[in-house]
Amino acid sequence: MLNDKERRGFLFVISSPSGGGKTTIYKALLAIGNPFAFSISVTTRKPRKGEIDGIHYHFIDDQQFTSMIENDELAEWAEVHGYHYGTPRVFVEEAFMEGKIMILEIDVQGAMQLKEHYGRDAVLVFIAPPSIKETERRLRARASNEENDIAVRLNNAKDEIKKINEFDYLVFNNELDDAISDVTAIAQAEHLSYHRFSSKLWPENE
Ligand code: 5GP
Repeated sequence: MLNDKERRGFLFVISSPSGGGKTTIYKALLAIGNPFAFSISVTTRKPRKGEIDGIHYHFIDDQQFTSMIENDELAEWAEVHGYHYGTPRVFVEEAFMEGKIMILEIDVQGAMQLKEHYGRDAVLVFIAPPSIKETERRLRARASNEENDIAVRLNNAKDEIKKINEFDYLVFNNELDDAISDVTAIAQAEHLSYHRFSSKLWPENE
């Protein structure tokens, strides 16, 4: 259903405040398989327990990050919670050259940069947690977050929610299964958009 080779790929940008549930949602999309693919970001933050270099992120230092910016190797980048994060340009190229629905799990600042640069080829989905209170509960449930880290992330969440109107789609994550089916439906509809059809329709009629 979602592996039509005649369709051009696009960037499927999923943003939500920390604790919004976006990680579980993108993993469900990835489990569908082709044409979904995932962009692995670079970050200067240290790995959390259980995170593997090259799978969750490419963990690099400040100097390497700066050199990637200087060499124009990042399609977007931002400072989030005091660290740098960026999307390597190779994943964007893979989406467009290989017809992938490239999932980018990035923050609102990065999402805005991609929209400005790629227009309709960057589809922006905002996953909204049910409430700030629930966001805080989810952050605390993650043993890896320190108390002052939780405060920073909660403040950022309040700022990010103000940018909702810049997004193409808004999904509430009250029930995870519903949110997953909503996000899948968005990807599918975007994939089927006439705008992504790259061949001639019924060329034998010409
Ligand atoms: P975390 O440290 O919890 O893994 O991620 C913190 C924030 O950075 C999340 O909002 C996440 O979406 C965002 N992020 C992860 N990778 C990137 C990226 O490549 N670019 C941008 N702009 N944000 C990112």
